[in-house]
Amino acid sequence: MKKVYTVAEMRKERRKLSDPVGFVPTMGYLHDGHLELVRRARVENKDVVVSIFVNPTQFGPEEDFDAYPRDMERDLFLLKEVKADVVFIPGTEEMYPPLSSTWVEVENVTERLEGAARPGHFRGVATIVAKLFNIVQPARAYFGAKDAQQLVVIKKMVSDLNMDLEIVTVPTVREYDGLALSSRNVYLDLDERESAVVLYKALDMAKKLHEMGERSADVVRRQMTELIQNEPRAIIEYISIADASTLEELENIDRPALASLAVKIGQTRLIDSMPLGT
Ligand code: AMP
Repeated sequence: MKKVYTVAEMRKERRKLSDPVGFVPTMGYLHDGHLELVRRARVENKDVVVSIFVNPTQFGPEEDFDAYPRDMERDLFLLKEVKADVVFIPGTEEMYPPLSSTWVEVENVTERLEGAARPGHFRGVATIVAKLFNIVQPARAYFGAKDAQQLVVIKKMVSDLNMDLEIVTVPTVREYDGLALSSRNVYLDLDERESAVVLYKALDMAKKLHEMGERSADVVRRQMTELIQNEPRAIIEYISIADASTLEELENIDRPALASLAVKIGQTRLIDSMPLGT
């Protein structure tokens, strides 16, 4: 497994790789969700590139960029185990030289949900992902279903900017009790960890209501809200039942939909999502 730190080195390694190349962008502090993306890329491509870069431009000024968990030694050990070929680990100045002034803005789908709660977040995500795609030149890139809006934004960017690659969605990897794996779960203390399962419980309930024929989005949202409000450590930021492709809130669940939510457990903000009817 080759480790590279600069754009120039990455381009040089890229020329030695065999096509098709699969690519997994991450912010590190890897867990089995990330590794599942790499395993899938491993099966579907000749060579696999993984990037580890905690992208400052997708964090708001009050967010956890400095505190974001990091453990490079462990990450590299895990990536070797799942047989990544190249790990790209650029520094902040390498990705954002002081005079860089170009941004990728995806409109509309970025205005709701995470976009509304975290202004500028998706501008940071789209910009870094576009840059990484240009550097790594993959045939396929792998993203987790958990960050559902991120997937919608990236697919839109790829389509609008005629980028020549396939975006592959990998189902969310969960703990034994349903909690979605996330690097941020490390912030939870034992009690909070127990409470955090409420996100999954609410989504699972939405799925079951939908399977039983409930088509009123309001009814589903209300039941989810009630369930979460019964958990004293949880504070709801949003609960959404939206059109799966436009992310517009639905009245009737009469097409493929996405249940998604952001909930604070103590100081930790968690998100999760569940497709309905897809
Ligand atoms: P991050 O390091 O949090 O930016 O995540 C990097 C990639 O891993 C993104 O495509 C995430 O959607 C994906 N990912 C994070 N958690 C999970 C999970 N529990 N299951 C599947 N993919 C995940």
